[in-house]
Amino acid sequence: MAFESLTDRLQQAMGKLRKKGKVTEADVKEMMREIRLALLEADVNLKVVKEFTKSVRERAVGTEVLDSLSPAQQIVKIVNEELTKTLGSETVELEKNPKIPTVIMMVGLQGAGKTTFTGKLANHLKKTENARPLLIAGDVYRPAAIDQLKVLGQQLDVPVFDMGTEVSPVEIVRQGLEQAKEKKNDYVLIDTAGRLHVDEALMNELQEIKALAQPNEILLVVDAMTGQDAVNVAESFNQQLGITGVIITKLDGDTRGGAALSIRSITGAPIKFTGTGEKLTDLEVFHPDRMASRILGMGDMLTLIERAQQDYDEQKAEELAKKMKENSFDFNDFIEQLDQVMSMGPLEDLMKMIPGMNQMPGMENFKVDPKDIARKKAIVFSMTPAERENPDLLNPSRRRRIAAGSGNSVVEVNRMIKQFKEARTMMKKMSNGNFDMPGMDQMF
Ligand code: GDP
Repeated sequence: MAFESLTDRLQQAMGKLRKKGKVTEADVKEMMREIRLALLEADVNLKVVKEFTKSVRERAVGTEVLDSLSPAQQIVKIVNEELTKTLGSETVELEKNPKIPTVIMMVGLQGAGKTTFTGKLANHLKKTENARPLLIAGDVYRPAAIDQLKVLGQQLDVPVFDMGTEVSPVEIVRQGLEQAKEKKNDYVLIDTAGRLHVDEALMNELQEIKALAQPNEILLVVDAMTGQDAVNVAESFNQQLGITGVIITKLDGDTRGGAALSIRSITGAPIKFTGTGEKLTDLEVFHPDRMASRILGMGDMLTLIERAQQDYDEQKAEELAKKMKENSFDFNDFIEQLDQVMSMGPLEDLMKMIPGMNQMPGMENFKVDPKDIARKKAIVFSMTPAERENPDLLNPSRRRRIAAGSGNSVVEVNRMIKQFKEARTMMKKMSNGNFDMPGMDQMF
C-alpha cells in the first residue's frame, strides 16, 4: 500500500514530541525538518511541501499550543488538519446533470487506468444509485481498449457503444450520445484515447469531444506510480482542457504517494476517487480527512466499515454474532468468514485501517501468507461435515486422518485447531463486550 514509509517517518517525527513533557520552539523546528524530509522522500511536490510545512509551523509555534497541557497532541492535530487541507478538505461528489444523461469523460495518458476506471465507475454507480450507464468506447488507437471495455460491460451487464476503430472518436461519441438519449441512460461514461505523452493531436481531439459532448465531468486519470510526472501531466491537461476532477489509480502498489498529496494543491481540481487494485470493486471514494488520518497511521475505521458493509449480508452478520456469543461458531463459519474477509482486500491493509494497529509491535512485519490460508482451508476441507460442525469430535485418530488427507503434519493440524478454539473463545468474550485481547494476531 502507498504511503507506508511516509507514515513511518511522520510517526517517528511526531513520536519524539510525544515523549517530551514540554515542547519548545526548537523541538517544533526539528520535527518540521523531519516532516519536510519525509514528504520530499515520498515524492511530494516541493511547492506543496513548503506551503504545508509553513502552515504547520505557524500554527504550532502559536503560544496557545506550546503552552497547552498536551502540546504534542495539539501538534498532531494540526498536522492532521493541514494534511486534510492539502488533500482538498472536503469530499467532492460527482457533478450531476439536472437532465439525464450526466456525461462523464475520462482522460489521461495511456496505461494510467482509464478503461479500468470506466468499468469501476459504472459498477459504483450501479451499486450506489441503481444507475443505468452507457459506456462509449472512444479509444480507437488502442484496439484492445475497445475489447477490454466490452468485456467489462459484459461482466457488469452494462451496455457498451462502439463503432470499431475506423470511425473518428468524435463521431463515435456523437452517435453514442444519441443512443443514450434514445434509451434513456442516466449516465454516459466516455473512455477516450491516451498517448504516451501529452501531445497536440490528443488535446485537439479531446477538445473536440468536449465541445460536442458538453460533459458534466472531465476526470483526469493518473497513475500514482509515476510520481512527480503525474503532477506535470495533471497541470497540462488542466491548462488545455479544464479538468473537473482527478482519479488516482494504483495506490495499492508500492508507490510513495507523492502524486496524491500534490495534485490538489497544484491543479485545484479535487481528487474524486482512488483505484486500489485491478478488480472492478477496487475503487474508493476519496475523503481528504480519512486519507490524512490513514497517512498519519491513525487508521480509517469509516472506510473499513463501509467496505465491510458493501460485502456484507446483514442477516448473515446477525447469525454470526449470535453464534459467536453462544460459542457455536464452527469450521463452516470459519471458512465462510475467511473467504469474506479475503474478498475485502489484503488483510494487512485492512488491519492498518484500525486505529492504533500501526503502533502495535510487530505490525510492520505483519503479512498474511496466502499459502497459509490455503493450508488452513485444506485442513477444514479434509474434515467430515460432522467434524466441521462439532470441533470437539476431533480426537487424535481423526486428526491423523485429516493431516494425511490435507497433506499436512499432525502438528500443523493440532496448531490450527488450537488457534481456532482460542479465536472462538476470544470472539465469545468480544461479543460479550470484553475487548481486552492479548494474542489477537494469533487468530490469523
Ligand atoms: P488505459 O490505457 O488508461 O485505459 O489503462 P488501463 O485501464 O488499460 O490500465 C492499465 C493497467 O493498469 C491494466 O493492467 C490495469 O489492470 C491496471 N490498473 C488500472 N487501475 C489499477 C489500480 O488501481 N491498481 C492496479 N494495481 N492496477 C490498475
